[in-house]
Amino acid sequence: MQTVNTDVLIIGAGIIGASTAYFLSKQGLQVLLCDAGQSGTKASGVNFGGVRRQGRPLSQMPLAARSHQLWGQLSELIGIDGEYIRCGHLKIAFNGQDMERLQEYNRSVASCGLDLQWLDAGQVYSRYPWLSTDIAGASLCPADGHANPRVVSPALSWAAQQAGTRLMEHCRITGSRYDGRYFRSETADHQHIQSRFVVNTAGAWAGEIAAMFGESVPLTEIYPQMGVTEPLPPIMNVVLGVQGGGIYARQVARGNIVFGGSRALSLATGYARPSHQSVSMLLTRLAGLIPGIAHANVIRFWSGVEGATPDLNPYLGPSRKTPGLFHGFGYSGAGFQVGLASGEVLAQLIATGNSHIPIEDFRIDRFTADSGKL
Ligand SMILES: Cc1cc2nc3c(=O)[nH]c(=O)nc-3n(C[C@H](O)[C@H](O)[C@H](O)COP(=O)(O)OP(=O)(O)OC[C@H]3O[C@@H](n4cnc5c(N)ncnc54)[C@H](O)[C@@H]3O)c2cc1C
Repeated sequence: MQTVNTDVLIIGAGIIGASTAYFLSKQGLQVLLCDAGQSGTKASGVNFGGVRRQGRPLSQMPLAARSHQLWGQLSELIGIDGEYIRCGHLKIAFNGQDMERLQEYNRSVASCGLDLQWLDAGQVYSRYPWLSTDIAGASLCPADGHANPRVVSPALSWAAQQAGTRLMEHCRITGSRYDGRYFRSETADHQHIQSRFVVNTAGAWAGEIAAMFGESVPLTEIYPQMGVTEPLPPIMNVVLGVQGGGIYARQVARGNIVFGGSRALSLATGYARPSHQSVSMLLTRLAGLIPGIAHANVIRFWSGVEGATPDLNPYLGPSRKTPGLFHGFGYSGAGFQVGLASGEVLAQLIATGNSHIPIEDFRIDRFTADSGKL
């Protein structure tokens, strides 16, 4: 039986784990990044690719702002541009009530540096004549954008390896405990790992890891429904979202329009597939929003598995029970944009004991009776 020694064991090589590995390795720590499958192929590799700050709660703004800076350095971080484009994110209101909610949100984040611009119906039509004529108004966040998750997330693991991380794929952690000095973890193929720190970034499956340390938390699975059209002539020059959700869309340089909204179906825990109901609902909404593409062919539908928390904020920071254990999961359908900064925060916590970003709202024990929040 083999024992692998390392400073830090990171469980889960999605964008959160890979980013943590990258920043830790840059600081000279010995890092072992394990994934039950292949790095960057779960939620981090199949998501919509929205890189937006607009719409996030105030509590996430410092994290999102730091991530925004890091996304601006993406090519230097991962060696490729990841198809990252800052084309703007337009959030649409269809009626007066939605407009009020959107404008109230805009006021609440006025000091967060999003530079939100309010567009009335006339301004929306003149700027985006390809949109539905039913729109009451919209909020534009000019520096938000989109990227290709299929290349960004695996490339981040690659960048972490270049910085010194050891990546072990097809390596499922089946048990982990702290003996007061070291963490002792086992893999499905009977390897033993001894480490000074453990980082739990196992995505929708991270609740199982937290439970190994007696730190059970509310976490449910969600399955966002996605689709993509055939390549079309350039029409969209902004990423679309809608107040209240239901549909979002972006067009990539090759011409395909990627879209999402509603929820897919799960036939087994940890697995999701498109459902007839969500597919037809999405197609109707897409054609209503962008009438000019109503007859486009859709070439693929898919979904992914994501862990969601009751308040839709992640669990990010130290364990409240086990010294040396850190958590970063529960991103509730919005962890791609904040993934880079989340990894940086986790690396800082391990290297220095502090985070330069406020993370109090993301405490893992915030839903337990003695945290004072229930
Ligand atoms: C369809 C979809 C659309 C989305 N759209 C957006 C979007 O537009 N913008 C946005 O910001 N966010 C979006 N999200 C959310 C975002 O993708 C996630 O929040 C983010 O990718 C979470 O990253 P992660 O590293 O925590 O999880 P994952 O990418 O799921 O990585 C977790 C990894 O842990 C591994 N693992 C699990 N258990 C073990 C174990 N026991 N041992 C070892 N490894 C283990 C898994 O194999 C997996 O690779 C979307 C999510 C989905 C599913």
